Amino acid sequence: MTPGLMERLWSAPGTKVMLIAHGRSPVRDSSLLLVDAASIDPTRTPVYLGHTTVAGAGPAGSEPAGTDVVLLMLKEPSNQWEGDESVRWIGLREAATELPARDAALFVEAAAIANWHATHTHCPRCGTPTDVESGGWVRRCPVDNSEHFPRTDPAIIATVIDENDRLLLGSSAQWSNKRFSTLAGFVEPGESLEAAVIREIAEESGVRVHSPRYLGSQPWPFPASLMLGFTARAHSAEAVPDGVEISDLRWFTRQELTEAVGSGEVVIASGASIARSLIEHWYGGPIAEPAGPQP
Ligand SMILES: [Zn+2]
Repeated sequence: MTPGLMERLWSAPGTKVMLIAHGRSPVRDSSLLLVDAASIDPTRTPVYLGHTTVAGAGPAGSEPAGTDVVLLMLKEPSNQWEGDESVRWIGLREAATELPARDAALFVEAAAIANWHATHTHCPRCGTPTDVESGGWVRRCPVDNSEHFPRTDPAIIATVIDENDRLLLGSSAQWSNKRFSTLAGFVEPGESLEAAVIREIAEESGVRVHSPRYLGSQPWPFPASLMLGFTARAHSAEAVPDGVEISDLRWFTRQELTEAVGSGEVVIASGASIARSLIEHWYGGPIAEPAGPQP
């Protein structure tokens, strides 16, 4: 990163600042509330999030494509909009469903890097507090000079399909018993993504799968995951929940899933999630849900 970049960004008139505190940021009228850098006292370490490639949904001309955005991590939400009913501080889950694509993407990036800074304040080699460098994307130990970079933890999430083209969904022991989703789990050190799919499915359901095929990914910074979506074929349909992470397993034909979701008997992941995309990839299109709030 260019030396002096942060100073230049901070004094440039077009630079916008995103605020985050405890994983929440201010929004106004369903778009991210970015403030002018000039109105902020840069007492805390800022992180350069980059420049936008599309315009924001805010007031016309205020956030054109190419706007530089800097993240400021606050200890507590700022009270500067107290009394302004149009401003709310929201978290990542709401951001993913409520904000336009540019803002949702900024939010995911901001939440991920803020999580990393919050949990990596000291050198893992010697315990010394680290310094922030490179626009907030490196932390360096002043004693042993080691550099530390933001980490991402890969996790796989997969549809499992049997020889009759049925889909396997599981219900987590921690969820309402109506909620069913694709199986998922973290990739272990030294493991390929394909091996992780085969192992996780076997552990959670007893089903042995083959031919895992990559379909797409979604960053999931709770706190630092990257969900890698797969589809795999089952050798057999005999499924047994592990009883720890998964409490129930069901095979669905498309007709059965249509009816179960339509009647509210089964609730599947929301439209903003990779789980929903994977399920609809198998289904062949959007799945209709009953009107009204979901449990
Ligand atoms: Zn150190």
